Amino acid sequence: MDLQTKALHAGYEKDSNRTMAVPIYQTTAYDFGTADFAASSFNLEQGTDHVYTRVGNPTNAILERRFAELEGGSGCLAVASGMAAIFYSILNITESGDNIVVSTQLYGGTVTLFTQTLKRLGIEARFFNVRAAGEIEALIDDKTKCIFFEAISNPSIDVPNFDEIIKIANKHNILTIVDNTVATPMLLQPLLLGADVVAHSASKYTTGQGTAIGGLIVERKELAQKIKDNPRYRDFNAPEPSYNGLVFADSAVSGILFTFRARMILLRDTGAVISPFNAWLLIQGVETLALRIKQHSQNALEMAQWLESQSVVLKVNYPLLESNKNYANASKYLTNGASGLLSFEVKDFETARKILNKVNIFSIVANIGDSKSIITHPASTTHQQLNEKELIACGVPSGLIRISCGLESAKDLIADMRQALDAE
Ligand code: PLP
Repeated sequence: MDLQTKALHAGYEKDSNRTMAVPIYQTTAYDFGTADFAASSFNLEQGTDHVYTRVGNPTNAILERRFAELEGGSGCLAVASGMAAIFYSILNITESGDNIVVSTQLYGGTVTLFTQTLKRLGIEARFFNVRAAGEIEALIDDKTKCIFFEAISNPSIDVPNFDEIIKIANKHNILTIVDNTVATPMLLQPLLLGADVVAHSASKYTTGQGTAIGGLIVERKELAQKIKDNPRYRDFNAPEPSYNGLVFADSAVSGILFTFRARMILLRDTGAVISPFNAWLLIQGVETLALRIKQHSQNALEMAQWLESQSVVLKVNYPLLESNKNYANASKYLTNGASGLLSFEVKDFETARKILNKVNIFSIVANIGDSKSIITHPASTTHQQLNEKELIACGVPSGLIRISCGLESAKDLIADMRQALDAE
C-alpha cells in the first residue's frame, strides 16, 4: 500500500459506531471491570491502551500505529513534544557516565538539551560534523550508546550520508537515532535505510497547520535483535525492579522493545504524555501530509532557485540545488523532494533584520512546517543561547535567514521576497 493510502487508513479499525473520523477518547482512566483484570493490567499482561492515559490511550494508539506504518517501523510512542521524543529516545538507553555521539548540525533546542541538561545528568555529548562521518569512529568507546543526527538538519539544511553513518554504527553495534522532523516519512524513511530509531517533532509538518505540539518515536522492526544481549544496553537485558524483575529484552513485546520500555519506564515515571485531543489533531495532519509536503518541497525549490539569482544573497542552502554541497546525498535519499525548509545568507545581522521587517506574507515566527510561510533569524531567536563558536559549528552565521515555505503560491511568495530584497 502506498504511504498516501496508509496515512488515511492505517491503525484505525472502525468500532460499532462506524465513525469515519477517528474518535477522541478524552479520558484519564478506564474501568478494569474486575480486580483480577486490574492486577494483570498492572503486570503488563493486557496491553497499554486501557490502563491510564499517561501510558496509553486509544486515540493516541491510532496515531502511533499509523505513524509506525508510515515510517516502516514496528513500535511507536507518541509524546507531548518533539523535545520529549528526543529526550526519551536518549534516556531510554543511557545513564550517568555514558556518552552519545551527535551531529553538530542540529536544532538549537536539541543542542542545549545535549550540552546542558544531559550534561547535568552525567551524559556526555560528543560532536561530529555531519558532513564528515569519518570523524565518528574516533569518538566511540564502550560507553557510547548512540549516534544521533537529523535527516535534514534545521537550520543548516544538511543531508547526511546515511549509509556511511549507519555502517559505522552497526560495526560497533551502536544504535542510530535520526530526527526525521523536516523530511517526514513521506520524503525519507530512515528506518528502511537501516537506522534504528526515528524521533520526530510532530509539531511541524505532521500537524501541518501549526495547531498542536507533539512528538513521536518509532523503532525499526528488527531492533530487538540488536539490543538483546548487547552489553551496551544493559537496562534492556537485566531484571527490571519496578516490574517484578521483568527482563524487557526477553518479554513477549520484543517487536516493540524500544518504545515499550520508553512507555513503561520513562512515560510512566516522567509523564510527558500527549493529550488525546492533540493526538487527534496530528491524525488530521497526517491524513494530508503526502500532498502538503509535495507542495512545500516544490515551493521551496522554486524560491531557492530564484534566491540564487539575487545579488544581495551571498549563499542559498537548499539540498536540491545543484550548487549545494548536499546535492549528491539529497539526489540519492530525497528523490521525492527536499521539504519546505531553506536558508540564505546576507552580509550581516542588520541586513537580515531589515529583510525580516519588510516581508508581508511571511510571518516572523519561531516555528517551521506550518501551512503559512515563516521567516526566522536563527542567530537572534532559536539559536540565541549558542555562543559564536557553536553558531558557526551549527552552520548559523549572523546573516543567515531561514524560511519555511508554506502552501501559498510560489509566485506570491517570490514577489513578497523580491520587494523585501529590493529595498536593500
Ligand atoms: N527537532 C527539530 C528538527 C525541530 O526543528 C524542533 C523544533 O523546532 C524540535 C525537534 C523540537 O520539537 P518541539 O517543538 O515539538 O518540542
